Amino acid sequence: MIATDLETAILRLRDLIEGARTIVPFTGAGISTECGIPDFRSPGGLWTKNQPIPFDAFIASGEMRDEAWRRRFVMEESFAKAKPGRGHLALASLYRAGRVPALVTQNIDNLHQASGIAPDDVVELHGNTTYAVCLECDQRYELSWVRQKFETAGRHAPDCSCGGYIKTASVSFGQAMPADAMRRAEQLTKHCDLFLAIGSSLVVWPAAGFPLMAKRNGAALVIINREPTEFDELADLVVHHDIGDVLGPFIVH
Ligand code: NAD
Repeated sequence: MIATDLETAILRLRDLIEGARTIVPFTGAGISTECGIPDFRSPGGLWTKNQPIPFDAFIASGEMRDEAWRRRFVMEESFAKAKPGRGHLALASLYRAGRVPALVTQNIDNLHQASGIAPDDVVELHGNTTYAVCLECDQRYELSWVRQKFETAGRHAPDCSCGGYIKTASVSFGQAMPADAMRRAEQLTKHCDLFLAIGSSLVVWPAAGFPLMAKRNGAALVIINREPTEFDELADLVVHHDIGDVLGPFIVH
């Protein structure tokens, strides 16, 4: 059912939330656009500026690693300023109320953690771009450290002391999905009775499989996205409105 207007959408969502035992939110880049972080596919989104650098290109070429870091530091201005938006705050309210055991996200911006959800309860399918790791030994690096090395080396990406390449802790196209996060997302999806897909175009696989899995396991499926998605016809409630406007009324201070 596609909600005809915002008011109907909020009423219907409130009913579904009140009637649910376990709610699992699944979020995509759309929840963070009001925080100043562009999504990939909307007009003006990141893809209209730069095609992503696939993992094999990052590994194969020092120039690509330099370019990947250059782009990351350009993005840092918006990432560093970003604060959780109304969607993040509403989901954190449901979490604090014990309605949401954990949340699954495609996002890499750390804003769910910043909204008060314990880091262990944020299942990141695509990792996190607010810090870096060595691809060989897993040593963690802060971005400020990488940036300082990058600038002093004439804008060249630094390597780890073990010789491995240092990359943001996000998952690039062509890079293996994190097995633990995938397993946990599957468990959460299979054990909820209400699944909320929020701000995802639902075209990036395997992440996009989770709403489908939830529906097949008998959960009610809600899709909140300002554009239609391929799964709209499967959903119990589809809301084509701004996420902040839809979820704002669910914020409890
Ligand atoms: P996407 O860009 O493919 O889709 C975002 C969707 O959200 C679009 O369909 C858009 O119409 C909708 N949207 C944007 N703002 C909205 C709003 N205010 N209200 C309602 N809908 C809104 O993003 P995706 O499906 O999450 O997948 C792209 C991948 O890009 C993700 O897996 C993620 O790893 C990465 N990414 C992450 C971030 C982030 O962490 N904030 C930002 C860009 C890309």
